[in-house]
Amino acid sequence: MSPRKTIVIITLLAMVLSMSACEKPVSNVEIPEVVSINPEYINTILDTLVSEEFTGRLPGTEGNKKAEEFLQREMEAIGLSTPEFTSSYLHGFNLLVPLKQKVTEFELLDVNGAVVQKFDFGDDFTEYIARDFAMGIGEFQGAYTIVDDPFEVGKVDEITNDDIWIFSRKATASSSYDAFFKTILNSDRTPKVIIYESDQLNNDHFVLSPYTGLMQHNDNENGILIYRVSPDAFQSIKDADEKFLRVSTAVDVKSVEVSNVVGMIDGKSDHGYVISAHFDHLGDNLDGTVNYGALDNASGVSAMMALAEAMVREGEQELDYYFIAFNGEEEGLHGSSAFVREGFLEADKFKIINMDMVGSSTPIEFEISATHPQSTELSQWIFENAKEYGINAITSNIGASDHFPFEQAGFAAVTLIEFDKRFYHTPFDTKDASIDLEHLADLTKFVFELLQ
Ligand SMILES: [Zn+2]
Repeated sequence: MSPRKTIVIITLLAMVLSMSACEKPVSNVEIPEVVSINPEYINTILDTLVSEEFTGRLPGTEGNKKAEEFLQREMEAIGLSTPEFTSSYLHGFNLLVPLKQKVTEFELLDVNGAVVQKFDFGDDFTEYIARDFAMGIGEFQGAYTIVDDPFEVGKVDEITNDDIWIFSRKATASSSYDAFFKTILNSDRTPKVIIYESDQLNNDHFVLSPYTGLMQHNDNENGILIYRVSPDAFQSIKDADEKFLRVSTAVDVKSVEVSNVVGMIDGKSDHGYVISAHFDHLGDNLDGTVNYGALDNASGVSAMMALAEAMVREGEQELDYYFIAFNGEEEGLHGSSAFVREGFLEADKFKIINMDMVGSSTPIEFEISATHPQSTELSQWIFENAKEYGINAITSNIGASDHFPFEQAGFAAVTLIEFDKRFYHTPFDTKDASIDLEHLADLTKFVFELLQ
């Protein structure tokens, strides 16, 4: 055997050995991993979104930006792809946001201007800035007139020279608030301040809303200062001996650019599902309270991210799945509307499952909500599966979430929601108060199995 032959044999032997090493031994066949939802991952996402650092995630604030960046990093970390229509998972858009500059003040005064009673923001009153005629930044001090008779709403200017007009529930009950405001705006002389009694309180706290959906411009310094007061505060104002008030609001209604955060699993199909949940909430009240928005909607986002994480782990998918954390929902579905307006996806190829407030800590119906006929089949399918899974499910027709702009554009789209109103849009919507983690994980598991 020549040394050359030996080398050839050794080389051949080495090749055979290395080839067999590549093949998996028969005795050690890999059993496919049973992929399931990771409850710890849900908890991690939830904890981060409700953390002090994110300060209630109001668009246009640092907290919202941080949440946006966190979700962007997280989508990359779990292995979602960035869709070609985004820039590293981000889809930017503009919206009008009410940005509070300082706590809103509301005080009962005596004739000399001394404070008789200071009212608490949230418990006793809130500012109202959701229409163009409402003024965002300003203050006023003066005498007030109380209007209790609905027939006087249109002629307060004939009754009084005061610039602060205060309306009881009885005075406004017979019309919608928009009709009520319209009547006042049509008066020959409009007031500087409108105050109206309202019982829209949850847990003795006003339902806060940064709604700008019907605002066209951001003129902060013209118009009327408007406030809602609780029935208790209204009574104090009504009973006061010397009827003077001072109010001060500094809410800068501003156009800001924010982003939806969008990741995908590319099944190399041209159809599939959008799984979505809004991550924005109402921010800081600057009075020491923050609206953390645990159920609304850190819950939905953590469920969505856990779904994405599990589906990436599953490996190849046959359909395309988009996972969208929408921004600007609370101001009037701005993120989902902007996304739909772009026409990235075709209505007949994608179905939308949106989650908004899931995993409530109180026993409450799990609503599968849609408003358009083209969503009925999708909604029924989820409903029947939910029943089978043992969920206390109902179908309903809530339009106030991110499935709605999709429905208007012809998509089949639903929102899954447990509309627990106990702490809704108040600083009390915290993880401890609002969320049952086990239940949240179970609902997430249900959607995961639904998509199998
Ligand atoms: Zn909300």
